[in-house]
Amino acid sequence: MTKEEMREKFIDIIARFTVYSGKHLPDDVHAKLTELRKVETSDMAKIIYDAMFDNLEMAKDLDRPCCQDTGVLQYFVQVGTGFPLIDDIEYCLQEAVKRATVLGPLRHNAVEIFDEKNTGNNVGTRIPWIDWEVIPHSDEVKIYVYMAGGGCSLPGTAKVLMPLEGYEGIVKFVFDQVTSYGINACPPLLIGIGIGGSVEVAAKLSKKALLRPLGTHNPNPLAAELESKIEAGLNAIHIGPGGLSGENSVMGVHIEQAARHPATLAVGLSTGCWAHRRAVIKINAAMEYETISHKGAKI
Ligand code: SF4
Repeated sequence: MTKEEMREKFIDIIARFTVYSGKHLPDDVHAKLTELRKVETSDMAKIIYDAMFDNLEMAKDLDRPCCQDTGVLQYFVQVGTGFPLIDDIEYCLQEAVKRATVLGPLRHNAVEIFDEKNTGNNVGTRIPWIDWEVIPHSDEVKIYVYMAGGGCSLPGTAKVLMPLEGYEGIVKFVFDQVTSYGINACPPLLIGIGIGGSVEVAAKLSKKALLRPLGTHNPNPLAAELESKIEAGLNAIHIGPGGLSGENSVMGVHIEQAARHPATLAVGLSTGCWAHRRAVIKINAAMEYETISHKGAKI
């Protein structure tokens, strides 16, 4: 395969996978919504969950996005140093987004700051946002696609606390924000919390926490315990599906951490909505792909 043929193949795979991820929730999110639906007792909560599942079925049958807001596109790229298109990834992702916008279709969501103009193709300054991790001794690339919807991005926030505020300060920060803005994010929510580093590190880690599969825990036992406690506390508020009350509030709470300066305690919060469109694909040097988040998907 020539370099040009490889580029074309790569763009085509990412464009089609991006479109696919706007129409089909990942396996773990679908399974969690099913589990949450089962424990609801009120008619209102059951009706809302049933409407979500009807919506997902119709999106599949009619081949349309499962939410009108297909978000700002973000790609979290883990690229092997030996991947043959390592120099072309940014260009290819931009081209893939333009193509996906027409194919999807995807709503036009990239508005240039200062110009206040929608670019009309979901590509703008630094958008699609690309987060890079370079993997030594590998010739593959793993790409997380994330559709950052407006509602689920609204509760996003980050702050540097005084260290004396401690873990209690982190919990207060999360609960204050989720109880005031969480409803905008179409519950049940996925809560991503980043702790440590400086403010931008905590913010970025909170978004990366949303990429972790549901049902996984932070490998640090204390962090895992805090995840479970915050999840139990938020569920006890009974925000319910659509924010209209129910047995639970969240699909999960994920924490990611970095070491901190002794004098600071940075914390970041990102939220995912019930239509949590996070998709993962692996592509090898021969341009063969595996859809990790959507097993057996035909893109
Ligand atoms: S929060 Fe999620 S489900 Fe709600 S409108 Fe935004 S993208 Fe769609």
